[in-house]
Amino acid sequence: MTDFNDRVPFNLPYMTGKELYYIAEAHFNGRLAGDGPFTKRCHGWLENRTGCNRALLTHSCTAALEMAAILLDIQPGDEIIMPSYTFVSTANAFVLRGGVPVFVDIREDTLNLDERLIESAITSRTRAIVPVHYAGVACEMDAIMNVAGSHGLKVVEDAAQGVMATYKGRALGSIGDIGAYSFHETKNIICGEGGVLLVNDPSLVYRAEVLREKGTDRSRFFRGEIDKYTWQDIGSSFLPGELIAAFLWAQLEETQTITDKRLDIWTCYHELLAPLENAGYLRRPIVPDDCQHNAHMYYVLLASGIDRDRVLHYMKQAGVDALFHYVPLHSSPAGKSFGRLDGALKVTEFQSSRLIRLPLWIGLTKMQQSEVVQVLAAALHA
Ligand SMILES: *Cc1c(COP(=O)(O)O)cnc(C)c1O
Repeated sequence: MTDFNDRVPFNLPYMTGKELYYIAEAHFNGRLAGDGPFTKRCHGWLENRTGCNRALLTHSCTAALEMAAILLDIQPGDEIIMPSYTFVSTANAFVLRGGVPVFVDIREDTLNLDERLIESAITSRTRAIVPVHYAGVACEMDAIMNVAGSHGLKVVEDAAQGVMATYKGRALGSIGDIGAYSFHETKNIICGEGGVLLVNDPSLVYRAEVLREKGTDRSRFFRGEIDKYTWQDIGSSFLPGELIAAFLWAQLEETQTITDKRLDIWTCYHELLAPLENAGYLRRPIVPDDCQHNAHMYYVLLASGIDRDRVLHYMKQAGVDALFHYVPLHSSPAGKSFGRLDGALKVTEFQSSRLIRLPLWIGLTKMQQSEVVQVLAAALHA
């Protein structure tokens, strides 16, 4: 077995090298509040790249999802269809408005919301569908948009992991009425804590600007469209300051390079792990033809009967930080009290119990990757 001097950490944030330079520029500009020159550059880049109607930086993807729930006027008792296999913010954003998450099972292949189960989960209280693009692999958006259209439902894409990934050539987050990305340190493109709201439905743009600026029409004032700004609607402070936007700009400039580097690492794992899949020990990720993913994550699904805790423990002892992922929301204390199940979530429970995420960060060497795979193989044989 390979001997390690250093641990292989699960994640290391990647810096392009220009972050502090742009932060210094913002400092010399003397404009530190939100919506300054760096924020505008980020907005322009995101609008161009995704084709969304309006991009609005937020202090997290969680905040962007909270804005989405307000924009859709979610009322107490309204139901929102979503997977249980997701991060808490997908549900919490709607629960904060009194909404009820309705958990639907996921697909066996992509671990995304199973679009074939949505229609039967719809009731007279259903207002929206929230597909989550797990690991930057798109949900079946055509089918989801069709169901939503025929029942008059809104679609909010939780594309937290989806920057630079596409579905039939369209950017994730730009297909539903509203989308959201995360720039959290653990995602592909980062600024520590940060996110963006992508508003695709043009009729929601004005209100999105207002509620992000404490319920005022300050954005119109800044554009010179009005001569004073006043309180218009409910709202909060959802925008990040310029230092964060300056950091993010350094990352956005390098987005293609960052994505390409991650894809190389992903592909290397995919090749190295083929023999273990062929031998029946695990299943590798499945990416449908219509989807270009962004190498946000590399995971494997252990064959049933293999003790995941034992495998993770073995890998940790051998110096490799591999991790499991979401505890399904429907099995959590808050999920039980705020949400409800639609059907038995058999796939969710099975897949989430056998999933392991492997280290994936820019700078991880091919040597380290083969060590990770060797350690995993040894753990499976142990
Ligand atoms: C990371 C993540 C979030 C939350 O993003 P933040 O920017 O940390 O608020 C929400 N949903 C999913 C699916 C995520 O992966």
